[in-house]
Amino acid sequence: MSLRLGRMRKPKRGDRFDVVIVGGGPAGLSAAIYAVRFLLKTGVFTENVGGQLNDTDYVDDYPGMGKVSASQLISSFRRHAETYFHVPIYERVHIEGFERVDDTWFRVYGTPNVEVYAKTIIMAVGSRRRKLGVPGEKEYTGRGVSYCSVCDAPFYKGKDSVVVVGGGDAAFEGAILLSGYVNRVYLVHRRRQFRAKPWFVEEAKSRGNIEFVLDSVVDEIRGDGSRVTSVVVRNKVTGERREINVDGVFIEIGFEPPKEWFRSLGLDVDERGYIKVDHWLRTNIPGVFAAGDCTNVWIGFRQVVTAAAMGAVAAYSAYTYLAERGLYAPVKPGKD
Ligand code: NAP
Repeated sequence: MSLRLGRMRKPKRGDRFDVVIVGGGPAGLSAAIYAVRFLLKTGVFTENVGGQLNDTDYVDDYPGMGKVSASQLISSFRRHAETYFHVPIYERVHIEGFERVDDTWFRVYGTPNVEVYAKTIIMAVGSRRRKLGVPGEKEYTGRGVSYCSVCDAPFYKGKDSVVVVGGGDAAFEGAILLSGYVNRVYLVHRRRQFRAKPWFVEEAKSRGNIEFVLDSVVDEIRGDGSRVTSVVVRNKVTGERREINVDGVFIEIGFEPPKEWFRSLGLDVDERGYIKVDHWLRTNIPGVFAAGDCTNVWIGFRQVVTAAAMGAVAAYSAYTYLAERGLYAPVKPGKD
């Protein structure tokens, strides 16, 4: 989902930027705001604006905002970058890659018909939802299998039961939300310890209709050919298998970065596939920086505020990189 209203910008072929930001979530938009404050010619290239905020309902921990809907927060980020600072945001754009063409420029290319040049690049592409990889998952995706409780919970209003898989914040947030819509929620987690914040765990335990199915994994998702009807759950300790009838399966087991793509671009990644950065968010490729959930820092504490902070730092690093190499040519932000 993207909240863009009005005309959609198209990048001009051959256009040149001091910094091309790939990704329009909190990290990318924050990087854009800071980059333009350093008087860098900046463009944001993204498939959607908001990133994972599009999958969230409310945010109540972004400093200064109180409780705000995720869509309002995205709009605020966008307004700040695009309306206030006139940063062009090119959306529904898929960046395929970049290559160095000389000491100053990278060629950045993608679809549809994107070819621009950048002195620096900030990768702020987030990461992808992890899949269970069990029989029935692919077949019933969109037909009872969902990867976003916050997005899809209302569709289950009045249904009997659902399974939520995972033990992190997203699984708990989803289970709590779903417990208001359905009679029974089974929370299936592969361990007994939870990664979720204690706040969420206490809240889930206090609900009378969330059953914890621990030390357990989903082995199979079954259906009647058109929709999910049950899951087969296996206790890893006892080996006992149990079929639970459900109307939906919410898979909330975290994210993984597009590591093969990163590798193909020549970026060093860690063992999980996140882009390796130093404390100034420099990657192994001079002139290429990374920010937010695609990086190997602060894993396990992915927040809007941490992504935004990284975006700001990456923009500063891009600025210092240009200044140190005599490539800094300040431009005043303005309408394009
Ligand atoms: P996460 O924190 O990485 O948790 C993923 C959970 O799924 C873990 O419990 C993990 O088990 C389990 N898991 C991973 N792979 C699995 C597999 N193949 N089979 C079964 N279980 C598997 O991911 P998340 O909950 O999606 O959260 C992502 C980030 O967003 C986190 O930083 C989180 O704090 C943040 N978030 C915040 C909020 C909020 O504060 N409102 C809401 C949602 C998300 P193990 O524990 O055994 O590894």
